[in-house]
Amino acid sequence: MPSLVFRKGLDLKHAVAGMLADNYHSALVDRIKADEFTYRSGRLTLYLAREFGFCYGVDRAVDYAYQTRERFPDRHVFLTGEIIHNPHVNEKLRAMGVEFLSDDPNAVDRLTPEDVVILPAFGVTVALLQQLDRRGCTLVDTTCGSVLNVWKNVRRYAEGGYTSIIHGKVWHEETQATASQAVERGGKYLVVFDRAETELVCNFIRRGSDSGQLPTRFANAVSPGFDFDTDLNRIGLANQTTMLMSESLAIGEMMRSAMADRYGEANLDARYQAFDTICSATQDRQDAVVALLRDRPVDLMIVIGGYNSSNTANLARICAASRPTYHIADPECLASAQEIRHRPVGAKDEVTTTGWLPADGRVAIGLTSGASTPDNLVGATIAKLTEYCG
Ligand code: SF4
Repeated sequence: MPSLVFRKGLDLKHAVAGMLADNYHSALVDRIKADEFTYRSGRLTLYLAREFGFCYGVDRAVDYAYQTRERFPDRHVFLTGEIIHNPHVNEKLRAMGVEFLSDDPNAVDRLTPEDVVILPAFGVTVALLQQLDRRGCTLVDTTCGSVLNVWKNVRRYAEGGYTSIIHGKVWHEETQATASQAVERGGKYLVVFDRAETELVCNFIRRGSDSGQLPTRFANAVSPGFDFDTDLNRIGLANQTTMLMSESLAIGEMMRSAMADRYGEANLDARYQAFDTICSATQDRQDAVVALLRDRPVDLMIVIGGYNSSNTANLARICAASRPTYHIADPECLASAQEIRHRPVGAKDEVTTTGWLPADGRVAIGLTSGASTPDNLVGATIAKLTEYCG
């Protein structure tokens, strides 16, 4: 029996609106937005970025998950894994009885047509989708439209004989799902993480022979049977939607220039294609934090979001280039006026820093949050800052 798929909600938006507001809304944040994104209390002046927090894709995914629970109170409801990269939201869903297929490697094989599975905002691989379809369960697909747009272009590359070069994190669910779309259409892919990896690929393209260490270096980042000698002859560029815009543009330019050097400018159209797949929400949040750093006299930045959230990590990267920056997972990380737990940019683990908040005098703090961070966490963080600044 083919799966029943819901892609446009379950007609229960109004029924869950109150619950969503109770769980994720912040009256304090609303007040600050209305007050030119600025808040003053004691010696603290706080500047909020003009775009932060839940993006349209996350908003929709969480809304659909709540609607699903409401619509199927007596059935098992599953998520394939984290619905978004925010531990609080995922824990809330667990508390509502939503189960996680990622908790048990054999869970998919036990699904029945009675079960309901929610697909996350960043999508799932073609293989997993086919597996779920074979089980005949009901699917609630929250894959974001901006991710679907990337898939459309990657499929177009595959059908045109172009290898997709994906600027992304090979371990990220979205990039894995995007890569699987290329393979499904008979195409190839290679994932590059940053400029350094791109440089290696570009050097090989210019040389045109001897792929050297590349097959080992990219063993987990290429499609099955990838041949560096033939599969980089025609390439199309795409990005994970949440990467750093400036880096994606630079990587596109590096690739373009390598292909032009190898095949000549005149032949470039037949050899190289590109389109920008950074989503507008990611772009808006990056632009807003750049503007905040430029226009406001902030002493330090706080960036709130899950440590595995790609877009949050990139916001922290932007801030850390010019200000002391603390990427925190939640308000509890502000342990005291002396001590903060945070993850430094580029580090894997959380660390504790003392003396993060100037002990006296006026202090101006800039604040932003990733696309998967609900406003209530932002509000609670501001409440703590207020307490610490008297
Ligand atoms: S970050 Fe962008 S692509 Fe991802 S869910 Fe949000 S709007 Fe969609």
